[in-house]
Amino acid sequence: MAGVSLKNLVKVYPGVEEPAVKETSLDIRDKEFMVLVGPSGCGKSTTLRMIAGLEEITSGEIHIGDRRVNDVAPKDRDIAMVFQNYALYPHMTVYKNMAFGLKLRKFPKVEIDRRVREAAEILGITEYLDRKPRALSGGQRQRVAVGRAIVRKPQVFLLDEPLSNLDAKMRVQMRTEIGKLHSRLQTTMIYVTHDQVEAMTMGDRITVMKDGTIQQVADPINLYDHPANMFVAGFIGSPAMNFMQGELVEENGRLFFNEGSVRICVREDHRRKLEENGEKKVVFGIRPEDIRDSGALNETENGYYGNIRARIEVVEPMGSEIYLYMTTGTSRFIARVDSHLEVETGQDRDLSLNMTKVHYFDSATEQCIS
Ligand code: ADP
Repeated sequence: MAGVSLKNLVKVYPGVEEPAVKETSLDIRDKEFMVLVGPSGCGKSTTLRMIAGLEEITSGEIHIGDRRVNDVAPKDRDIAMVFQNYALYPHMTVYKNMAFGLKLRKFPKVEIDRRVREAAEILGITEYLDRKPRALSGGQRQRVAVGRAIVRKPQVFLLDEPLSNLDAKMRVQMRTEIGKLHSRLQTTMIYVTHDQVEAMTMGDRITVMKDGTIQQVADPINLYDHPANMFVAGFIGSPAMNFMQGELVEENGRLFFNEGSVRICVREDHRRKLEENGEKKVVFGIRPEDIRDSGALNETENGYYGNIRARIEVVEPMGSEIYLYMTTGTSRFIARVDSHLEVETGQDRDLSLNMTKVHYFDSATEQCIS
């Protein structure tokens, strides 16, 4: 068992000026399920491949357990990797695909057989051991790819978008299975995905990346409730957090966020932090589920909700809830409301914002202020 530690890791690809990974430091704990998430091209795979030893490091250090592995060959790093495209050998049976790595490492036949059958049992693919990969579904192939990694009993699993080639239903199923597998094996896993739902549902902790830089490392709840900046706030959560550009103005001893058509009184605890920050130009952020139709509130809730009036441009019924695409002045935003609410396109509605869930960001730095 081992944690993984990255120190000032940098990757510059030959002939590319912009580094793919910039001065990245990250400590992944022993037995942790760490997800690296971010939009395409942000450097997730490059980071993972450097840990695997498949990509040369430009500078920095990688430790697996207490070993510095910068100069250790991939096969000697005691890691196993699962790829998006499965990378199975088409001419070999499932059994041989899973046994291959152990055979290369000169494991005794009996031990190979024991490990392959045990992994097949865990993954529910025992009945397919004699088939070739082409006779398997996508989900079954992915299980074989995972099985091939398991039999090695590595210190660390590296998974690069392993579910991207599966259909939506199978993705959800495999998500749960990989989670269960992690609990069962109690091995460190580093999982790369561009899908924030996958990240939120699977990760013990999540590392959000953008442009080769770590934006935030946190557990799912903290990432959602306390995003460090506008990028993380907008990336995690669907529909995304609503943002409004505006200014802070003081009137009769109270502080307001003023967007032009929207004027919202700032809570005292937020006010302190905003005044410490000193910037007048700020971005107001609120998640769609923290906006309610005022008519749907009860008396006790009314107290701390800020009110705005907005027009419904589009109504999107989702079954369990309704997404309302709304405008007020120059701002557009989405509200997630109860599916029983009677709403129509073109209506003006009074909305209430849960002011305890509001985020303020510095307009210039995009960092969260409160
Ligand atoms: P992600 O996994 O987040 O999609 P990657 O790590 O694959 O991102 O890529 C990060 C950046 O490095 C991207 O800009 C990509 O175009 C670039 N890149 C990746 N592989 C190579 C390569 N072999 N040569 C040059 N540039 C590369």
